[in-house]
Amino acid sequence: MRVLIALGGNAILQRGQKGTASEQRDNVQKTVDQIVRMIRAGHEVVVTHGNGPQVGAILIQNELGSSSVPAMPMDICGAESQGLIGYMFCQSIHNTLCAEGVEGHEPACLVTRVEVDPADPAFANPTKPVGPFYSEEAARKRMAATGETWIDDAGRGWRRVVPSPDPKSIVEADVINALLEKGFTVVASGGGGIPVIRKGNGTWEGVEAVIDKDLAGERLAAAVNADLLVILTDVPKVAINYNTPDQKWLDTLTLSEMEELEKKGHFKAGSMGPKVNSALRFVRNGGQRAIIASLEEALEAIDGKKGTQIVKN
Ligand code: ADP
Ligand code: MG
Repeated sequence: MRVLIALGGNAILQRGQKGTASEQRDNVQKTVDQIVRMIRAGHEVVVTHGNGPQVGAILIQNELGSSSVPAMPMDICGAESQGLIGYMFCQSIHNTLCAEGVEGHEPACLVTRVEVDPADPAFANPTKPVGPFYSEEAARKRMAATGETWIDDAGRGWRRVVPSPDPKSIVEADVINALLEKGFTVVASGGGGIPVIRKGNGTWEGVEAVIDKDLAGERLAAAVNADLLVILTDVPKVAINYNTPDQKWLDTLTLSEMEELEKKGHFKAGSMGPKVNSALRFVRNGGQRAIIASLEEALEAIDGKKGTQIVKN
């Protein structure tokens, strides 16, 4: 089966860790152990991943270093984060395949752009906080000088917010399919991909925005015609009444059953909401089955034994 794996932040950095290179390498190795288990079980794996802490660190480095070297815009920072995370995955996947004597399935990590619509309503309403925290005074100065939007982020300080538009298509789809055809294990669309808009003459232009990685993961799954979409995170299943005394973990649901629960508002925007949305879109567009599960139980979830499974009606 061709399986699209969307990895959450915990696959690269655990909550509470600083983000040193060795912490990130160790986490990536644990994640890759799961990926190689899937490969050994006979699955063709396509990987996408988040980049929140990594692009956050790059933005801080850019801010703090801007008196000596020019700061880069967000699309370039996104590309940098795909490169640094992609490199860790390439090393770890190759080295693990090599150590376990598995032939083929070599990794190919691709800097990936994702098309967004310039008319997407998200551009008029930036919601996604990124980069360092500033004082109100510094933030106001910055807004006046650049036209950026900064908000008071839950009392923790002021932070820049950028639009989070809906992904339309994966620009590198043909390249990814060509690599899959040759048997490579592809890592693509990291951090939701680099958002680009199409200009009148067929060219692309990068924009200052962040695409949700789970929604971009669904676009990637569609682009490669995946049989399964597997969203791996730090909880074992999706719950209703999450974090309340009435919390109940969900096992297997049909598309319409899950749609009903989504309408009732059980899945929080910015965390479980986009995962459920992405899973629903995948099955609605003809995908066999979508799964939301914990990273440690990935293979068991693919076998239908763990996680929340969303199936056709
Ligand atoms: P990731 O990096 O994997 O995208 P997120 O923090 O964005 O992680 O989303 C996973 C988190 O969603 C879980 O840690 C959990 O706290 C939260 N969450 C919110 N609503 C729910 C729900 N209904 N069921 C399960 N988890 C939920
Ligand atoms: Mg998330």
